[in-house]
Amino acid sequence: MSAKKEVKLFEPYEVGDVIVFLTSKTSAKVVDIDCRWELEATTTGCECCTYQWRSRSNKHFKCRHMEALLHVLNNGE
Ligand SMILES: [Zn+2]
Repeated sequence: MSAKKEVKLFEPYEVGDVIVFLTSKTSAKVVDIDCRWELEATTTGCECCTYQWRSRSNKHFKCRHMEALLHVLNNGE
């Protein structure tokens, strides 16, 4: 079983403490497991406070929502 699974849009993927629903090949709704708060994350940004704050001083900063999205897009690798 070495074949890669295809990553589907609008399927819930659990990554650590968050659930990722892809809405396109580069964006997703990310929900914390213990919270109903939906965040819009893309491969280049996120609407969470952590990203908004940290990206001011670090253009390459990736919050955990972006990391989770990238994890799903890379098929868990
Ligand atoms: Zn975020």
